[in-house]
Amino acid sequence: MERLQKVIAHAGVASRRKAEELILEGKVKVNGKVIKELGTKVSDNDRVEVEGIPLEREEPIYVILYKPSGVISAVKDDKGRKVVTDFFPYIKQRIYPVGRLDYDTSGILLLTNDGDFANILMHPRYEVDKSYVAKVKGIPTREKIKQLERGVMLEDGKTAPAHVKVLSVDKKKNTSIIEIVIHEGRNRQVRRMFEAIEHPVQKLKREKFAFLNLHGLTTGDSRELTPHEVKQLR
Ligand code: URA
Repeated sequence: MERLQKVIAHAGVASRRKAEELILEGKVKVNGKVIKELGTKVSDNDRVEVEGIPLEREEPIYVILYKPSGVISAVKDDKGRKVVTDFFPYIKQRIYPVGRLDYDTSGILLLTNDGDFANILMHPRYEVDKSYVAKVKGIPTREKIKQLERGVMLEDGKTAPAHVKVLSVDKKKNTSIIEIVIHEGRNRQVRRMFEAIEHPVQKLKREKFAFLNLHGLTTGDSRELTPHEVKQLR
């Protein structure tokens, strides 16, 4: 949901200020009804008219990217580093990532221009499962794995229960490959969870976001979601 004046301004019809004036003057309709309240929130599905002319809303678009490591999960970077939207020069809509992956993390990232959809998926209540595969230093004991599963204490509170599976261990190199499924989305959460059990992450990849996976994609590849996939995620 976005404020009406912001939606009008974003559509390029008027400045934010001018949009506010138009609303106060009764020149804006939402779903056929004149709206004079400046704070009114509208969703992507609401029909907005300004002086009788329907607002052209961008066609919603939903894509997944197999993000390589060394790319910023943002739409622009002050330091000129590569950002995730650089992979979509052919998309005219203003897409942005749903949540973030760290600069050093690779894997599945969803991007869209549908604000309501993004907000739902990022809301903690929605509890989207995210599955990661981490290469960590050392070989965690069973007890440490249990701690991860039960939840570990981080600076910003205890983590919710997680599914954790040791996929393989390399005794010579003293590393382990571990799958972890979490539904929270705190900043650098997986890395901090492994730090908490003293097995720092050396490499991290997100394999799944909800039921979406990377099948058929290699690093840097992307594809549009099918309408069915979008419906399932809502
Ligand atoms: N957890 C992390 O630590 N990093 C990510 O990129 C995603 C989840």
